[in-house]
Amino acid sequence: MVLQLYDTLSRSKKLFQPLQSGKASIYSCGPTVYRDVHIGNLRTYLLADWLRRTLEAQGTQVQHVKNITDVGHMRQELLDRGEDKVIAAAIAAGKTPQEIAQHYTESFFEDEAALNIKPAHEFPRATAYVGQMIAMIEQLVAKDLAYEVEGNVYYRVGGFPDYGKLSGNTGEALLEGVRAEVDPLKNDSRDFALWKAAEEGRTTKWPSPWGDGFPGWHIECSAMSTQLLGDRFDIHTGGVDNVFPHHEDEIAQSEGALGHEVVGHWVHGQHLLVDGLKMAKSTGNVYTLSQLTERGYDPLAFRYLCATVHYRKRLNFTFNSLRAASAALSKLRQEAFLATESDDSSEEPKEGEVTDNEWADAFWEALSDDLHLPRALAALWGLVKSETAPSAKAKLLREFDEVLGLDLLPEPAGLPEPVRALVDERQELRARADFTPADKLRERVEAAGFAVRDIHERSEVVPQEMALPTDMGVLHSSDDVPSHLDDPDGAGFTVILTGRDDLDGLRRTAEAVLANTSGHDVELIVVDNGSSDGTAEWLQELATRDQRVQPITCDHNIGIGAARNCGMRAAHGRVIVLLDTSVEPTGDFLSPLDEALEDNSTGIVGPFGVISEDMREFEDAPGPEVDAVEGYLMALRRTRVREVGLMDEKFRFYRHLDLDYSLAVRERGYRNWIVSGLPLRRHAHTDWERTPQEERDRLSKRNFYRFLKKYGHSTDLLLAQSK
Ligand code: AMP
Ligand code: ZN
Repeated sequence: MVLQLYDTLSRSKKLFQPLQSGKASIYSCGPTVYRDVHIGNLRTYLLADWLRRTLEAQGTQVQHVKNITDVGHMRQELLDRGEDKVIAAAIAAGKTPQEIAQHYTESFFEDEAALNIKPAHEFPRATAYVGQMIAMIEQLVAKDLAYEVEGNVYYRVGGFPDYGKLSGNTGEALLEGVRAEVDPLKNDSRDFALWKAAEEGRTTKWPSPWGDGFPGWHIECSAMSTQLLGDRFDIHTGGVDNVFPHHEDEIAQSEGALGHEVVGHWVHGQHLLVDGLKMAKSTGNVYTLSQLTERGYDPLAFRYLCATVHYRKRLNFTFNSLRAASAALSKLRQEAFLATESDDSSEEPKEGEVTDNEWADAFWEALSDDLHLPRALAALWGLVKSETAPSAKAKLLREFDEVLGLDLLPEPAGLPEPVRALVDERQELRARADFTPADKLRERVEAAGFAVRDIHERSEVVPQEMALPTDMGVLHSSDDVPSHLDDPDGAGFTVILTGRDDLDGLRRTAEAVLANTSGHDVELIVVDNGSSDGTAEWLQELATRDQRVQPITCDHNIGIGAARNCGMRAAHGRVIVLLDTSVEPTGDFLSPLDEALEDNSTGIVGPFGVISEDMREFEDAPGPEVDAVEGYLMALRRTRVREVGLMDEKFRFYRHLDLDYSLAVRERGYRNWIVSGLPLRRHAHTDWERTPQEERDRLSKRNFYRFLKKYGHSTDLLLAQSK
């Protein structure tokens, strides 16, 4: 596997090529241990962990160093952030600075362990490297890249022409960046402190050629990284706030002192926001990992959540999203458990099943593309839902989890033998419809600590702690929506609107539907198909505001076919109208659809349709009759769904799903019609617009073949042929 990794310095994805083949050295800016690390810091450490695990999975031997910025260090920093009060209070309570640092260092280690972050090979403490820092400052002074003023030493930014190359902060932008800091001792306002003279009464200080003092923050990482990883190393990680000034200054120091580039690859993680805001003490939205676990969340649910957003994108943390992540993780563990405890899981998988698995290919491809964990998770879900043999599935899940670190597979695997026997016996009873004794056995299985879920004639049995809380309100597949298809009609119309990461579109169409019901009895089901842009929160809010709205939130992208099925299973309307966000009703759109559905021979109706001569080429048609109604808007009676069945969930992308469903309807002898003149505004199709050309072609082609396989030989279903 080749790893393409974004490099902040060159502002591009670069092929990762380590200095020494088969080895990689990583330096990560670590915690400041005079306070607890928060979930934002942890997101950045998770990035480094996934990077390391990905390299290790390729067989690369990684040397990982993560520094610990301990107390006694950067006084100005503390003052700037108003955090010296914490230390002052601890000191007043009789604690030494060392004790404070020790305390927070330990809880940092605990947080990392709880998140399955592999411990770095070295955790250098800044206070143990003051000698190396002084030596580097002396080198800089000798090269005239630094100067001393009254016991302070400053870096001469004007002497390093490359200054600004990482952050792009040069000239005006740079002055802007440093304006807050006024220090009359500096020659130039761009200069920064390498060493500071100890003020009166300061206890944590070190002797130096410039008198007693303490080092600046940036010099710590220059000194420790080059000391421990050498004059050149492969990767340096941190959060985006580290780019300037911390890493810009680190480059000036290290390259200034050594005379050459040091870091091969700069990797920066975007920030985590809480409820859309920057985390800040003053906002009251700073969360630590223990605040999540206190609320009953598995720390690894947070790890899962971080994997759902690419590291170069902001992650908006909400408790809703954490709940969804937690449900998704439980579901994955259930599936993994079920795969490993099935009968043939102990068999060795057949060779090709593991090596030629499309989901494994997708998984590794996603990671190699700048650590695309959201896509890797999608591949994981694909594998879980696939027909891959259990033994191969278990093996692949184990491999995936070596990188993901989600504890997907329990140790020891499988059901204990006595429970297995009870489950098998119950299975036989159920098969004979002997429900009373079967229920007794269910109780015994449950008493042994396992949860039982019966799905049709199958039963799933998983350890109780893996069972999903029932009130999550978030689902994983259309199966999780109880089907009301056989219930009597409970409304005139059910409008089903689906969307993913398209909040503006969903809002626009949902509001247009609600504003244009024109006196009809309407329920609006909005299916949020695994969005991470705040759709779930908006939808909850909309549903509280408007009783006609029923929200359905999926914890990941379950595919368009499945998302539409969620809505159809939940629907109570006599008429079902399926919409996506590319159409916006501007008037009474329901009456004309209703009228068009009057006739008992009618299948699907809608404003746009297509016809074909040969099942291969489809062209837009004015109607009135068409072969297929396009998926932007399709309406049909709910009774048709009972007869024809739900949509084919293998269609994850929308192309050809409408043809597939329309032909299924024609196959049953119904006819599809255009309803012209519907009051609608059309918008760009989000799924189409945002899908890159290559991907569009690939997804469309896949769906087309799927469709052809089913209907390629059924040209007699086409209008053109039946004439
Ligand atoms: P600090 O202790 O402030 O030096 O931060 C430790 C690491 O966490 C650094 O790499 C920061 O860039 C990173 N970091 C700080 N705040 C956040 C945040 N809100 N989201 C993600 N990373 C952060
Ligand atoms: Zn650093």
